[in-house]
Amino acid sequence: MTQPENTAPLQLDAMIIGAGVGGLYALHHLRDKLGLEVRAFDAAGGVGGTWWYNRYPGARVDAPSSPFYAYTFSKELADEWDWSESQSTSKQVLAYLEFVADRLDLLRDIQFNTWVEDASYDDSGQRWTITTHTGERFTARFMICAVGALFVAHKPNYQGIDDFAGECYHTGRWPHEPVSFEGKRVGVIGTGSSGIQAIPEIAKEAAHVTVFQRTPQYALPARNRMMSPEETAGYRDEWETHRQSMRRRGGWPFATTKLRAADATPAERRQRFEEKWALGGINLLIDSYVGAVVDPELNAEISAFVREKIQDTVNDAATAAKLMPDYHIGTKRLILDNGYFETYNRDNVSLVDLRDEPIESFNSSGAVTASSEHALDMLVLATGYDAVSGSMLNLNPQGRNGIRLQEKWSERFDTNFGISVAGFPNLFMIHGPGSPGVFFSMPLGAELQVQWIGDCIAHLHENGLGSIETTTDAEAAWDEQIQQIANSTLYPETDSWYLGANIPGKPRQFLGHLKGSQYFDQLAAVAEDGYDGFVFEKVS
Ligand code: NAP
Repeated sequence: MTQPENTAPLQLDAMIIGAGVGGLYALHHLRDKLGLEVRAFDAAGGVGGTWWYNRYPGARVDAPSSPFYAYTFSKELADEWDWSESQSTSKQVLAYLEFVADRLDLLRDIQFNTWVEDASYDDSGQRWTITTHTGERFTARFMICAVGALFVAHKPNYQGIDDFAGECYHTGRWPHEPVSFEGKRVGVIGTGSSGIQAIPEIAKEAAHVTVFQRTPQYALPARNRMMSPEETAGYRDEWETHRQSMRRRGGWPFATTKLRAADATPAERRQRFEEKWALGGINLLIDSYVGAVVDPELNAEISAFVREKIQDTVNDAATAAKLMPDYHIGTKRLILDNGYFETYNRDNVSLVDLRDEPIESFNSSGAVTASSEHALDMLVLATGYDAVSGSMLNLNPQGRNGIRLQEKWSERFDTNFGISVAGFPNLFMIHGPGSPGVFFSMPLGAELQVQWIGDCIAHLHENGLGSIETTTDAEAAWDEQIQQIANSTLYPETDSWYLGANIPGKPRQFLGHLKGSQYFDQLAAVAEDGYDGFVFEKVS
């Protein structure tokens, strides 16, 4: 539907870009709780955001317990949805989000298959106007960018990669049609969460899998299991308690250990690591002893323990040696695996260590490394995302005085609370740079940010205010806080997407707030204290 240039844009109160976990809740909250006229836009053909695209074999949540990768704002939703496994498949997460959209009657206000090509702020009217790929225009006082922290797929720029004549898929843009690996020689580049989930599943079907590994990774056994009706009922009974605990305990509902590694003997520590390993999931890291990503000695001991487990699992000594990670465990996103290391014991799987044997180029029939040619029928790129900032930069909104976000963020991703950007009034981000994001519960984090945004919009309405915008001083103070917290841990010592280190040329800056509960306390306090660090304008 193309709208002529001179036609007035459709007027709304708020526009939401993205219909994933954050966007769906924003639509519900702003429309049904605040009574605003709202529309959401998404390039995908359905709800789910990143879950709509992440359909690669083996894709699952990396939260260890499904009921906590879910919305918490409605007891009815929690009561009506049964999670079948402790570590949900992407298919079930998507089905859950479809159920929520249906149950809350959200679909009538979402425009799918719609790419927002431009967004610009009009100072005098205090409104945002967006233009879609079909030329339709919409205008609203508020624009909520729920564009996803892990959305912009990163494709490596190896020489000749586009000449490869076989099938080529990125895990973050997996086709909706079935992909068959049967009888095929499949190359997989990347061993992050996506690669480690996909490789065992691909290997079950393919003739041969060649894994091209740049950095060996730690992965902890997910110990995925079916959820019994009793377990589900237990979560429902404790729903309010869990909800409060998640808010207080950094997004995780259960108390973790207060034990200090220094108070235990090496043998006691070993015994405890074994117990936590047997439980699976993130227990080893968060519940062995206090401070695994802060205390280098404890971290080294846990890292060595996991390396030993890898060594014990992989039969071929040379392959095991290539798989040995050497960074501080937990400082790249922790990965939960379902048989990843065991997969290297199969005859149809081989590993190329790109540190010894870099890919020099691709040609129509496969990859060329220093000493070999790897003939391939299919290439799977599990090479991650331009995380956290990438999708906002894609949108590239134009704020006050014609400044584009790409210009504003050319050297640092300045924000206040990861929600607001100076020079971009009435624009709110969900999970923007400087938010807790993956360091907290993503659904709960989105809920709390949206509720704050809703309260802020209500504050503007009640006080005859037309715009809110953060200040550059507040952004500088926020960045200092983020970096200070990160620098008190081992995270900055490892190259990861948390630091933007996975994207060539991306400015290095720690992108997440590591103390989610503190973050949400501060966010609440700022609103209670009259929005220190923000400036308002009267309705023009
Ligand atoms: P990722 O963690 O960034 O991993 C990308 C992998 O590709 C890394 O092994 C990286 O190596 C490698 N790589 C990147 N560029 C390369 C190049 N030019 N040549 C060779 N190798 C290259 O991406 P991801 O696995 O998609 O995961 C991203 C995040 O998404 C995760 O951390 C997690 O938060 C989320 N995720 C979640 C789930 C879930 O279960 N909910 C599932 C998948 C992903 P280096 O390590 O050397 O950079």
